[in-house]
Amino acid sequence: MFEECQLLGRRRPYLPFRRLNVPMQPGLVVVVEDDAAIADVQRRYLVAAGFGVHTERDGRAGLDAIRRLRPVAVVLDVGLPSLDGVEICRTLRAEGDWTPVLFVTARDDEVDRVLGLELGGDDYLTKPFSPRELVARVKGVLRRMSGPPAPVRVLGGLQLDEGRREVSVDGRPVALTATEFDLLAKLMSSPGRVFTREQLLSSVWGQADYSGGRTVDVHIAQVRAKLGDASPITTRRGVGYAVEEPRG
Ligand code: CA
Repeated sequence: MFEECQLLGRRRPYLPFRRLNVPMQPGLVVVVEDDAAIADVQRRYLVAAGFGVHTERDGRAGLDAIRRLRPVAVVLDVGLPSLDGVEICRTLRAEGDWTPVLFVTARDDEVDRVLGLELGGDDYLTKPFSPRELVARVKGVLRRMSGPPAPVRVLGGLQLDEGRREVSVDGRPVALTATEFDLLAKLMSSPGRVFTREQLLSSVWGQADYSGGRTVDVHIAQVRAKLGDASPITTRRGVGYAVEEPRG
């Protein structure tokens, strides 16, 4: 699988990076492409750019390779035997795998399907393409690697949009400070779970000591006051705070 690294004769996998004069490998890219000539060009240019490359010609084999090898990026032909590129990407995302994907499309209808995925950081390239453009796009998706879209959390009439950093109650916006927002977002990330003051301090304020426990209490009081009856925050005496799903 690391044949390309060995072919170049300049680095081997799993070599400790502390060795001098060995450039840091930018990572392994899995290329899934059933056209052998195209796959070969893709591999050669990516290797020249310093990537390790593993290629597969078949969709299912490609999906298996991505799961097994955990590459830094995937170059995915859309039209593939056994499982097409869009289905491979959907499967990965459903499994919580947000490895950046560069789709390679051959037809306009394929472009439409890829764009329909709305997967944010990913990109596509239309055949025919220049191999240099391919390398530039792979580097681009790596730069934009953004993880899953920020969730919108809903508890009863309360809605918290992590991407837009907006909170509303029954559709009416509620103005929270940045700290209040982070505190509520942390609690709402895991309804029913009790967070201790130390946990909230470390994740919201970046503090590792307990001396700021009162700070947490004050901000919790402010969030409750702003949310009014819609506040889902409950106090666990002697433990910390949680948010609860509304009853009924
Ligand atoms: Ca194809």
